[in-house]
Amino acid sequence: MSAEAIRVSRVRRVYDIGAGGSLTALDDVDLTVAPGTFVSVIGPSGCGKSTLLRVIAGLETPDGGEVRIKDATPDQAARAKMLGLVPQTPALLPWLSVLKNVSLPLKVNRDAGRRRRAEAGHDGPDMVELLRKAGLADVMHKLPSQISGGMQQRAAIVRAFGLHPDVLLMDEPFSALDEFTREALQEQLLDLWDELKATVLFVTHSVTEAVRLSDRIVVMAPRPGWITDVLDIDLPRPRGQAILKTPEFHHYEDLVRDALRGAFHARVA
Ligand code: ADP
Ligand code: MG
Repeated sequence: MSAEAIRVSRVRRVYDIGAGGSLTALDDVDLTVAPGTFVSVIGPSGCGKSTLLRVIAGLETPDGGEVRIKDATPDQAARAKMLGLVPQTPALLPWLSVLKNVSLPLKVNRDAGRRRRAEAGHDGPDMVELLRKAGLADVMHKLPSQISGGMQQRAAIVRAFGLHPDVLLMDEPFSALDEFTREALQEQLLDLWDELKATVLFVTHSVTEAVRLSDRIVVMAPRPGWITDVLDIDLPRPRGQAILKTPEFHHYEDLVRDALRGAFHARVA
């Protein structure tokens, strides 16, 4: 029995790029994520963040090494609805209302949903209540096209939490949003995470976002994609707006920026 929510061991992913060429997107990546923790992955474009998430989600098979979600393979975990994935752009069905969109996975996976909620020892989130918490009460009967991008992404996050996954994988979910919307959504995400106790692996480009959200930050560098640093963020929670201005917060931002700078130069030097 593994104590880890996610265990990535010596994972390699090599893409065939034609003409006999290949590109190593992930090289010997080791990563463990403890249950109930919030871990962010940060690094420049092309360092393999999305590839890492896809491999963990079971959407791609690694060319070496292995991934375990608790004790299951990614395929088993996906089938058991232990995994939730929030992509960069909210994939809502345009012909369904916000409420129907977020309720759909629960309907489609009625059995898995029931089992997951039973295991969790409670009824699981009430979608209307979750929408209210996410500030979407007034728009839940609207179509996705009738609400803003920030609201659509909020709906996608509510939907992902709805199945009460053990592990939630999020690939730059806020990157298309303006800074104010982003800060508000960070706070709502932290509230949901706190309430539903999922393990979150969150990809971001933003140092501030990573520090605010995370218990731990994993720094990656490209060519080939590898993990250069793992930093623990020992800041108190809850982390409201006020924490963004504290010296402790800035200290962690500086640490992450230094790690990113070091990572960038590591293989160039
Ligand atoms: P990130 O999310 O950190 O920006 P990605 O995981 O998307 O990085 O990509 C890592 C590297 O792998 C990049 O060089 C990218 O061009 C390459 N890559 C990603 N997916 C494919 C694919 N399906 N075929 C070929 N190369 C790919
Ligand atoms: Mg990416």
